[in-house]
Amino acid sequence: MKIIVAVKRVIDYKAIIRVKPDGSGVETSNVKMSMNPFDEIALEEALRCKEKGIATEVIAVSIGNEQSQDVLRTALAMGADSAILIKSDEALQPLGIAKLLRALAEQEKPGLILLGKQAIDTDDNQTGQMLAALLKWAQGTFASQLNFHDQGVSVTREIDGGLETLFLTLPAVITSDLRLNEPRYITLPNIMKAKSKPITITPAESLQVDIKPTTQILQLELPPKRRAGQRVENATQLVHLLQEAQVI
Ligand code: AMP
Repeated sequence: MKIIVAVKRVIDYKAIIRVKPDGSGVETSNVKMSMNPFDEIALEEALRCKEKGIATEVIAVSIGNEQSQDVLRTALAMGADSAILIKSDEALQPLGIAKLLRALAEQEKPGLILLGKQAIDTDDNQTGQMLAALLKWAQGTFASQLNFHDQGVSVTREIDGGLETLFLTLPAVITSDLRLNEPRYITLPNIMKAKSKPITITPAESLQVDIKPTTQILQLELPPKRRAGQRVENATQLVHLLQEAQVI
């Protein structure tokens, strides 16, 4: 079985986010970029499937500009067999991404597509669901455990107040939650090995799908700064201050 893993290049989760002065978006120049953390988990799961003999090939795919090759090199260093960059300089939205991934899936015919549950830059949490719907494949979102059987895969999902286990027939789309696994560290020999692994660059236009944005960001602003706290000596003083503030 071939597995495709979608990996997005996003602002590193430790970087300080700065909004552009005109409020039109987030500043991305001179900011550390990395692979979306949930995608690293999705990739780790695909690699474990290959190590267990469930998968025969793992392909990492990123959609974005030339620089998205960074995250594909990281994916290759983690252990992906090959990588595909669907090149586009446009700011794409989940529906456009899902349509491009569907076109790729129709060419590559994977048994499974793994994605992160959400990209931490836009927090959309839409692409996996849209992709499964477009392909008319089974979907298991927020997966925290996968168990493969002859006819399919059971997916344990993290839902409000508990866990739900679904059985999916393959091919399927699965999105990873935080507790699915802990991604491996990349070793130096694997970074060197990754240099000789192939990255295929496919222009988004060649997939002939309509990726025109359907929504537009009107305004982006940071949350108001938190006011400094006040240290109190004891509970009585705390109650007094809360009464003064008319909170209780
Ligand atoms: P989102 O729906 O934007 O929160 O993204 C959910 C998941 O879709 C991400 O964790 C990635 O696995 C995948 N994805 C979204 N955008 C891209 C992209 N530009 N390139 C590759 N994968 C993406």
